Amino acid sequence: MSACTDARTLFAHELGGSPDGVWCAPGRVNLIGEHVDYADGLCLPMALEHCTAVAVRRRADGILRLRSAGFPGTDITVTDIVSHAVPGWAAYVAGVVWAVGPAGFGGADIAVASDVPVGAGLSSSAALECAVALALAELFGRATDDTGRAALASACMRAENDFVGVPTGGMDQQISLRGRAGHAMLLDCRTGTVRHVPFDPAADGLALLVVDTAAPHRLVDGQYAQRRRAVEDAARQLGVDSLRDTDSVAALRDTILSRRARHVVTEIGRVRAAVSALDAGDVRALGPLLDASHRSLRDDFEVSSVELDSAVDAARDAGALGARMVGGGFGGSALALCEAAAVEKISHAVRVAAGRRGLPQPRFWKVAPAAGARRCARP
Ligand code: ADP
Ligand code: MG
Repeated sequence: MSACTDARTLFAHELGGSPDGVWCAPGRVNLIGEHVDYADGLCLPMALEHCTAVAVRRRADGILRLRSAGFPGTDITVTDIVSHAVPGWAAYVAGVVWAVGPAGFGGADIAVASDVPVGAGLSSSAALECAVALALAELFGRATDDTGRAALASACMRAENDFVGVPTGGMDQQISLRGRAGHAMLLDCRTGTVRHVPFDPAADGLALLVVDTAAPHRLVDGQYAQRRRAVEDAARQLGVDSLRDTDSVAALRDTILSRRARHVVTEIGRVRAAVSALDAGDVRALGPLLDASHRSLRDDFEVSSVELDSAVDAARDAGALGARMVGGGFGGSALALCEAAAVEKISHAVRVAAGRRGLPQPRFWKVAPAAGARRCARP
């Protein structure tokens, strides 16, 4: 894999000598189950072939020397990692060391290389955290079985939430550390338990296309918090701990609240339906579920955007079996399930639709379900 080779090469150039090993962790895409994590819901992410690799050598002096192509190099002393003072990308690495705690990891030389596009909605941030976490766990003798990985994923989530300061629900880190090749992963956000669900679109002549709309950053601060509050208010008014515990939102008086809650309840239902379809080997049945998810996110949850709607509509009009926005919304990426032979035609149609509306030119990635974080084979 090229990221693993690139990390080893960067290590030799920037840090000298050989690493103790090279580890990689994948980006991810969530097939279905959007904006349900904070309602104790279910989601169905898959790990990607796109990976971030770290070449790492343990150091005895408690210093972290961090290098990544295209990013400024940073040296930090582990005992200095006590506040949020670490700037830039190094915060994602320092945050993992911070979250694991003072007795956890020590110093190391770390060279990073990645083929996960940054900021495209494939979670390059979790891929970086998880590659570092697995590498340091192996080098510093911490558990890396499934239970150990679940704990590392929680540490990576805390790193991103509490150290870097980005609110995320933990799905990205769980799938990056625990994903399996040829499977999607049903994650129960209430219990943290997972079930690996066989998923091989290529075997049915299908492909998954991620469209990064490249939409400009919008002032949507507060929207996430607002949606979250609405979901919590709805649960309170319905007298349940979370919307996971109800099938009906009919008792809600407020129409906005009722639509927000309806999205969550129907989306959790769609995750269950998607898992049933995959268990039955019916990958094509995902199509209408993706479409319904998009309508729900657009109309009931109101987190879509002109760019996302354009991409989804154009993909569907050009023959996609189904498509939806993915991630938090208000920009970011869309996902389309396509006949493998139609990927070019669908990408073209999405590009043309964006051009016609004067929107930024989107970027495209074909993605496939792949393994979670692992030690790279020696080249
Ligand atoms: P994404 O949707 O890709 O996760 P984020 O904004 O959450 O986007 O995270 C991107 C940030 O993660 C980058 O700005 C950088 O700080 C860090 N990052 C991701 N990949 C790398 C890398 N290969 N090297 C250094 N930093 C990285
Ligand atoms: Mg991220």
